[in-house]
Amino acid sequence: SGRRVRPLRVDDLTVRFGGLVALDHVSFTVEPGSIHALIGPNGAGKSTCFNAISGVYRIAEGRITLGEIDLTKTRAHRLAGLGIGRAFQSLSLSPTSTVFDNVMLGRHSLTAGGFLSYGLRAPWTSRSARRHGERVTEICEFLGITRYLRTPAGALPYGDQKRVDIARALAVEPTLLMLDEPAAGMSAGETADMARLIQDVRDELGVSVLLVEHDMGLVMGIADRVTVLDFGRLIADDVPAAVQSSPAVIHAYLGN
Ligand code: ADP
Ligand code: MG
Repeated sequence: SGRRVRPLRVDDLTVRFGGLVALDHVSFTVEPGSIHALIGPNGAGKSTCFNAISGVYRIAEGRITLGEIDLTKTRAHRLAGLGIGRAFQSLSLSPTSTVFDNVMLGRHSLTAGGFLSYGLRAPWTSRSARRHGERVTEICEFLGITRYLRTPAGALPYGDQKRVDIARALAVEPTLLMLDEPAAGMSAGETADMARLIQDVRDELGVSVLLVEHDMGLVMGIADRVTVLDFGRLIADDVPAAVQSSPAVIHAYLGN
């Protein structure tokens, strides 16, 4: 992508919903080119954290930065241009559009920020449209979904639809990919494929991955670092082996 991969710093992040403190002064750093997992029991604040980083939820206190870029007040539609791609927990594909068109649609979201900042204000010329089309095809090759390029996304098996969703997030040439429960609803085989794919994103694309996931086998198998939330508070932030043997983490999972 040519973009510099920068650390994502979440610093003293607090999010409230009325009287409920969904995130209570949470800090962690996603190191460049790492797989960083965010885990915790139901209601711990994982999705809230994702939404705060994505600019979907308003932040009560704290700061979020990507390298030098302050994301604290950034709105969701600007994320793509800043180098963040996000795939969603529930699929948000257009089921009647082809896989190619779904991924191209993701690439178009770049125009909300990135391309404007390069001074390209006009709609895409036919030459740039062709170049974008080639890149979309390359990204689909990376995800192993080229055989579906002309197939309506809704006709694909679930695991492959998840890949299209990730392709769409990668289509913005992110330096950070955010995945909310990528293995949810997947078979053991599909989950193993997903684990390999996430590692390929890190190793071959050099993209950092921030991952929310319930499947502990997947998380502990691939994460470089794991942050654990419980009732909105950070209770562990370490390498997988240390997190797995943390009394606070064991208590949080057994106590819930
Ligand atoms: P997790 O993803 O870890 O299961 P969430 O981030 O979804 O947890 O939720 C954390 C807490 O914040 C929960 O108590 C949840 O009910 C609350 N919450 C999340 N989103 C909202 C919202 N939009 N409005 C009100 N409360 C919310
Ligand atoms: Mg959630």
